[in-house]
Amino acid sequence: MDKNAKIYVAGHRGLVGSALIRSLTQKGYNNLITRSHAELDLTNHTAVKEFFATEKPEYVLLAAAKVGGIYANNTYPAEFIHENLAIQTNVIHQSYVNGVKRLLFLGSSCIYPRDCPQPIKEEYLLTGPLEATNRPYALAKIAGIEMCWSYNRQYGTQFLAAMPTNLYGPGDNYHPENSHVIPALIRKFHEAKIDNRSEVVVWGTGSPMREFLYNQDMADACVFLMQLEDDLFSKCLGSNDSHAESFQPPLVNIGSGSDITIRELAEKIGEVVGYQGNISFDSTKPDGTLRKLMDSSKIFNLGHVNQFSLESGLTNTYNDFKSIHTQKL
Ligand code: GDP
Repeated sequence: MDKNAKIYVAGHRGLVGSALIRSLTQKGYNNLITRSHAELDLTNHTAVKEFFATEKPEYVLLAAAKVGGIYANNTYPAEFIHENLAIQTNVIHQSYVNGVKRLLFLGSSCIYPRDCPQPIKEEYLLTGPLEATNRPYALAKIAGIEMCWSYNRQYGTQFLAAMPTNLYGPGDNYHPENSHVIPALIRKFHEAKIDNRSEVVVWGTGSPMREFLYNQDMADACVFLMQLEDDLFSKCLGSNDSHAESFQPPLVNIGSGSDITIRELAEKIGEVVGYQGNISFDSTKPDGTLRKLMDSSKIFNLGHVNQFSLESGLTNTYNDFKSIHTQKL
């Protein structure tokens, strides 16, 4: 990618998109295109068509999506499948129509079967039933991967899917119910500290395990992939053979390589926030998948290295929460 290549970051105000802008800018890319949701509704086919025809981006990073935690996925399944299918269908198709050189399609590790062996390799896609709490989102994302693969096969495009593990970081959604576990717990522990409450209630049993990745590490990994030499990028695109025995979709996992229990996570967040009280668990709330540690050896073997430990990432995220959100609460 030339430093002045025209790069469209879809979803630039989100957790990943905002980090992508920082990463690209830091690395000297100076021709970034963005549109807010109000300026361009990515579920609107005609609007997306006109945008691509006018702007003609050379590279596309598709970080726009309807996302949320276990409660939001369970409560708004129709929006999760409809909006994600629409956004990705419009952006991937118009990228093909307008000759985009490379596209990176982002999703999440919940595309993998609920009970697959750990750590999860890319090849486990579609080998078993999905976790029910986020199946609509997962199926939309799986359709997006299949779409990238199909366009690569039929039209020779270079569309790659990058599936991160659970992400967190500055700019996250700290909504008490609809958010993911890290921003939700940062908020709950902070409020309990401020109100001098003696108990924080964490959802589920505390025993599920999750792998977490800081958003800036995810963004740097995406830029790393987009910058790969042609031969290495082509390898990431898998095989264009559609037969099951050579099933290699254009898919790369992006994780941190280790996971912890929700109980351990809650204790760590309590420490970062400086909360002194007790932690209890509400097992009437869903646990979701028991474990989903990804095998990220594909991207690690290409030379990508993450920079942030969970402790430093949590500290940065708590600082972000305090600086931006406490006034609004
Ligand atoms: P998931 O990885 O798709 O299940 O996404 P989440 O980040 O929403 O949840 C991860 C785990 O954290 C699940 O086992 C939740 O039950 C647990 N959890 C504990 N407390 C909370 C909370 O306050 N909010 C959320 N979203 N999850 C929580």
